[in-house]
Amino acid sequence: MFQKIILLALIFFIASCSSQQIKPNIIVILADDLGYADVGFNGSKEIPTPNIDRIAEEGVVFTDGYVTYSVCGPSRAGLITGRYQNRFGYATNPIIAPDDPNMGLPLTERTLATELKTAGYTNSIIGKWHLGTHESLWPDKRGFDHFFGFLSGGHRYFPEEYILNDLSEVKKDWDWYQTKLLKNNQPVEETQYLTDALSREAVAFIDKNQENPFFLYLAYNAPHGPLQATEAYLSRFDHIKNTKRRTYAAMVSAMDDGIGTVLDKLKELNIDENTLVVFLSDNGGPERHNASDNGLLREGKGSMFEGGIRVPFAMKWPDRIAAGTTFSKPVMSFDIFATVCANIGLVPQNKIDGVDLIPFLDGTKSDQPHNALFWVDMGDNHFGTRMSGLKIVKEKNTEFALFDIENDISELLTVDDSIGLKRIFGEYQAWRDSLPDPQFLGLEDRKTYKQIQQSKPEGYDLIWADEFNYGEKPSAKKWKFEQGFVRNQELQWYTSDNAKIENGLLIIEAKQESVVNKNYVPKDRDWRKNRPEADYTSSCIKSRDQFSFQYGIIEVKAKIDTSMGLWPAIWLLGSERKWPACGEIDMMEFYRHEGDAKILANTAFSLEEGSKPVWNSTKILLSQFLAEDPNWADKFHVWKMNWTKDVIELYIDNQLVTTTMLNDKTNSDGFNSFRQPHYILLNLAIGQHGGDPKNTSFPRTFEVDYVRVFQKAS
Ligand code: CA
Repeated sequence: MFQKIILLALIFFIASCSSQQIKPNIIVILADDLGYADVGFNGSKEIPTPNIDRIAEEGVVFTDGYVTYSVCGPSRAGLITGRYQNRFGYATNPIIAPDDPNMGLPLTERTLATELKTAGYTNSIIGKWHLGTHESLWPDKRGFDHFFGFLSGGHRYFPEEYILNDLSEVKKDWDWYQTKLLKNNQPVEETQYLTDALSREAVAFIDKNQENPFFLYLAYNAPHGPLQATEAYLSRFDHIKNTKRRTYAAMVSAMDDGIGTVLDKLKELNIDENTLVVFLSDNGGPERHNASDNGLLREGKGSMFEGGIRVPFAMKWPDRIAAGTTFSKPVMSFDIFATVCANIGLVPQNKIDGVDLIPFLDGTKSDQPHNALFWVDMGDNHFGTRMSGLKIVKEKNTEFALFDIENDISELLTVDDSIGLKRIFGEYQAWRDSLPDPQFLGLEDRKTYKQIQQSKPEGYDLIWADEFNYGEKPSAKKWKFEQGFVRNQELQWYTSDNAKIENGLLIIEAKQESVVNKNYVPKDRDWRKNRPEADYTSSCIKSRDQFSFQYGIIEVKAKIDTSMGLWPAIWLLGSERKWPACGEIDMMEFYRHEGDAKILANTAFSLEEGSKPVWNSTKILLSQFLAEDPNWADKFHVWKMNWTKDVIELYIDNQLVTTTMLNDKTNSDGFNSFRQPHYILLNLAIGQHGGDPKNTSFPRTFEVDYVRVFQKAS
């Protein structure tokens, strides 16, 4: 009996020891902008990568390994959260904005480090962060115990160029490539070539944490530009005559050396067998920029063709993955998150999109890890979906098409299969419809971002905006188009064809062209029906059902055409009740009133439902503006409304023109037209108040630079 107890105790002791040891160490090595064909395991002869190849040889090569986006920031957000970054609106690279807590990975998201911390892991990121520069978004707030590297989207490689202490000293774009490196948030004096420094720190971290399970996220900057390499690495590639390619090769080689030291350290410490090491690039190679080579893959970084999203991808874990494995079903970078969590018994808090790959690698499962994989940018400018061997792609300069990716890796031949295309597009649309709007307005350009920051009223937050700096058409997530004849017996037929986005502007175009009225009923009493055709076309977009707001400041920068016959407007309507009881706010109207061209700013409502509108209207002669500035009509102006529960104030270029008090606008049933959410309309009408357009040449345009809505910060 006693022996039995000892035996049981011994078994229990061993079991508890092994459960301690069973937690694998995790090392995710991320290259930056590395070409698909620039590693030995994908066939590179020109650039030997013997160490990166060790990961492949001792484990698995994913021939069809993808990242969630074709540029750095969103790709990293997907990798580190295990989710499509589109699920939290992370659709572009965040802007380097150290003062902005919203410009980065939202705090609703949990990183792999956050999850692993709950399982007792020590976590380190070494290298590039690029998931937010505000202090609240730094790695130490996102589950990492240790950080050595830099916060921005790239960096220079030679320490003598690190001339700024930190991001607060950045004066102009790209200066952030020249900050000192950070070690646990403190600037440090570095002496080594960047890639060597990152490898050195990685080895030191492993050495120090060998006793406990650790997670090392080694995010090399290499071979992202600027192309900089030391003589020692360059001298290995004397045979490459192209200087750019030679430098690139040297940078890859430096990274490969570093990875070798990391792998050697694992062997030396005897923790190699139970360490999961994964290697991949954050996106495809930008071939023209850094002389990378994506091999047979079409296009590169930034594209939804394979060259942008299919990356060198290998993983080893000797305890669990057989050496020399090749896996050719599509996998995604976010599967790393899922694989890690599943194999240490962690249930992630957020819903993840990744799947545990181990059962697919050890033969437990034989189907596809993913039914479909999706990619999309924020403006729906380009997207892709892969289902098994087929893929649909819409790229900026190509027609939407279907490819047989298994037999046509270069996506050269479009497959004529409208049913297949429709089926995959249907999957894509269902996924796309489930996504929220992009955060940080989908802004990639710092100039616009700065302008918004400067235009933000003190104490207010930006809650909604359209900068019209994406795509070709106004976003369907923000706007709807009116169709046909709509109101005021105007002459134009509204259609979605007459609005486009160009050079950062919404352009609504009024055209003289005949359109058959498909609702035509001769002699019908409704003017919308009794006209056989329209002689003009134009567009009206409205945010109805997509966005409405109650109180705040709205600014619209626009340029109007003051030609005879035109009636452009920036206005709002209340969501509840019929016009005019719903309330109407005209931030800008331009039309002919008593024969004169005037700019108007009005409110209208009715005290009882069904009764006539009560107008509060300011009409200013266009000639008054022209007297002050003869070119007034050729310029952009800012129309603004300041709306509180007590008052509506309408401004033109910061001059107050109309004030409407709201206290006395409450109906007998307690309803107040202006104390309910309103939605926005932008349109260019023709005829009616606009006057007779017959002597005006067409087309004519109404151009909108932006719409921004601010509300008091909560
Ligand atoms: Ca990149």
